[in-house]
Amino acid sequence: MAKRDFYEILGVAKTATDDELKKAYRKLAMKYHPDRNPDNKESEEKFKEVKQAYEMLSDPNKRAAYDQYGHAGVDQSMGGGGAQGFGGFADAFGDIFGDIFGGGQAGGARGRGGPQVYRGADLRYSMEITLEQAANGYDSQIRVPGWTECEVCHGHGAKPGTSAQTCPTCAGQGSVRMSQGFFSVQQPCPKCHGTGSYIPEPCGNCHGAGKIKQTKTLEVKIPAGIDEGMRIRSAGNGEPGVNSGPSGDLYIEIHIKSHEVFERDGDDLHCQMPISFTTAALGGDIEVPTLAGRVTFPVPDGTQSGKTFRLRGKGIKGLRSSIPGDLYVHVVVETPVKLTETQRELLRDFERSLDEGGSRHNPQSKSWFDKVKSFFE
Ligand SMILES: [Zn+2]
Ligand SMILES: [Zn+2]
Repeated sequence: MAKRDFYEILGVAKTATDDELKKAYRKLAMKYHPDRNPDNKESEEKFKEVKQAYEMLSDPNKRAAYDQYGHAGVDQSMGGGGAQGFGGFADAFGDIFGDIFGGGQAGGARGRGGPQVYRGADLRYSMEITLEQAANGYDSQIRVPGWTECEVCHGHGAKPGTSAQTCPTCAGQGSVRMSQGFFSVQQPCPKCHGTGSYIPEPCGNCHGAGKIKQTKTLEVKIPAGIDEGMRIRSAGNGEPGVNSGPSGDLYIEIHIKSHEVFERDGDDLHCQMPISFTTAALGGDIEVPTLAGRVTFPVPDGTQSGKTFRLRGKGIKGLRSSIPGDLYVHVVVETPVKLTETQRELLRDFERSLDEGGSRHNPQSKSWFDKVKSFFE
């Protein structure tokens, strides 16, 4: 069965841009969508056809293969009958494109009849902030590489009084065909780097680039609640594109410095709280640090080391959370050190009075000894 041309199915020209493809696809997909045409076999077939055409043409590698070889270039079922199960030309093509364009740039390889347009590379910026800044939000300024138009040549790249010429290697196409065994592939022109023109006498100020590298300052708002490893996207602040291609994006990756007091676990905070063994035994108010300042917290009598208290809502309100997390206070009972002889004597007296009261003063020791006893019996 003869297949219809993908461009014809979508009703677009062979030179259609990604946007034009998407628009045409949306319009037709809406028209033939099964939900809108229940029990209509014809529109169901059309819907499938449109979907397939768009899937092929929206993939730069498959589109390139299709442009060159027609349906044979992208037909996945073609190699299916063979013993090796070769996955169709598109797969092989993907690999070759990946090698030549270094993978990431293949998206720009669509220069039919004009200089090739490339999107600029994305930039990554690593930013270290404190836990307090992460919790409360933080307005920051960062300096990133940027470009301004060269003021000598006003962006043309040619020495004033001269002008750019059409590239003789590619005749202004920006790309050349290169044979790779069985395949012939398009690659950016090595002389003009895809611009389609070359500059015999480059501007001395920008060396023909038309732009000057210059760091720029960006205002960055770090939202309250951000966590380690999250990224903020600053659209269009990456490297500029080639031949008026769109700029890449800047990604700011957040790293949170370790804190002296708190450890973060999602929206919750944890801290260790040393208390004296008198407070642990008698109970009393202790001062607990929180990110918003100190709060007083009552410790009940008979508090054991390792006991954890939860202070509701004293954690961090995460980016996607509606309420803040909690603060967990882990109590460490501190054994007194450097005792005087009088203090030692008091403690020995104290120990004797405990012995008279029996094991009820040491609930942990009692249960521990009970366990050991039953282990040996
Ligand atoms: Zn210049
Ligand atoms: Zn060229």
